[in-house]
Amino acid sequence: NDYLMLKNLVKDFHDGRGNTVRAVDDISLSIAKGDFVTLLGPSGCGKTTTLRMVAGFEVQSTGDIILDGRKINTIPAFDRNMPMVFQSYALFPHLTIFENIAYGLKIRKMPKEVIKNDVALAAQMVNLVGLEDRYPGELSGGQQQRVALARALVLKPEIILFDEPLSNLDAKLRIQTRTEIKRVQQLLGITALYVTHDQSEALSISDTIVIMNNGKIVQSGSPEEIYNHPAGPFVSDFIGNANFFDGVVTEIDNRFISVSLLGSEVQVPLPTAGQSFSKGDEVVLAIKPEAVEVRPGKGAFNGKIEVSSFLGATTEYKIEYADGFMTAITPNTQGEIHNYRYGQEIAFSFKKEFFRIYKR
Ligand code: ADP
Ligand code: MG
Repeated sequence: NDYLMLKNLVKDFHDGRGNTVRAVDDISLSIAKGDFVTLLGPSGCGKTTTLRMVAGFEVQSTGDIILDGRKINTIPAFDRNMPMVFQSYALFPHLTIFENIAYGLKIRKMPKEVIKNDVALAAQMVNLVGLEDRYPGELSGGQQQRVALARALVLKPEIILFDEPLSNLDAKLRIQTRTEIKRVQQLLGITALYVTHDQSEALSISDTIVIMNNGKIVQSGSPEEIYNHPAGPFVSDFIGNANFFDGVVTEIDNRFISVSLLGSEVQVPLPTAGQSFSKGDEVVLAIKPEAVEVRPGKGAFNGKIEVSSFLGATTEYKIEYADGFMTAITPNTQGEIHNYRYGQEIAFSFKKEFFRIYKR
């Protein structure tokens, strides 16, 4: 089950003036064959460095990379056969699409007939047939990224590495190309290690998401686990764009924790594992925008609409309240479209089962 394993990987960069940056700080990870695993985290958290160590472009300071039971720590990139697809496509501008896709086979000195055949298959796989004689500059961004994917596929790799491959594409192409990558990966049973800072991209494409912060793994799990059970405020915020409130525990029974919040009281389900709470604890409550309910008039919690964005199936509100701003996303079910306007006074409430509670 452990096809690709990273064991206590560390990468330090030295700047020549005696300063050290620890880009990757003791990462251990196990990836099963055929899995689509995504490293997700903010810019600078060490995603690219981790990927580059797996590819062999960068040598780890300490730790091991194990592929199929074999240490590959010192094997050069060329011999790992783990091609990488980059954000910038990294195509050769002076070579045709055919020559770009064929490049890896050519330097491996494959026979001409094999190259012709394999390039045709790869081009077909990513829907590029008919464009083989063009140059990269004559293709759209989405098509260029499909060339980069074909160039990787033609090597018949067991693993493909992706470093923010969709970041240069516009929103529509991003979704098209993402679907294309997922389709091909599943069809061929390829193991994918994918890097992005975009949480919706990670949620939609991955079997497993590995959340990184400051060079460390803070949580890993299925998209559903990560989304519904974030391990702490960082993941909550990064994944769910959560609202945070400071509160104090007033009472605990065997199902709920009562928390005083903004001069009122809410009930929060007891966390099933991990932290325990007692009366008087200062806590942070996190709740996702879609679990905030908005209605006209006055209630226990009151605010004012600051921004209203109609998004079709939902409307997103930025709400000003006593302690600052928060976000609510309300569904627009048929015949029931709320459209509160800028400046309108509203009351809000919470779907209590969606609260996450953390110690401050
Ligand atoms: P991410 O891909 O998550 O944005 P990176 O892996 O590129 O993060 O970078 C992680 C940290 O390592 C950052 O602080 C970055 O500045 C630093 N870093 C990356 N590459 C180098 C390098 N070649 N030399 C020095 N510092 C580097
Ligand atoms: Mg990066």
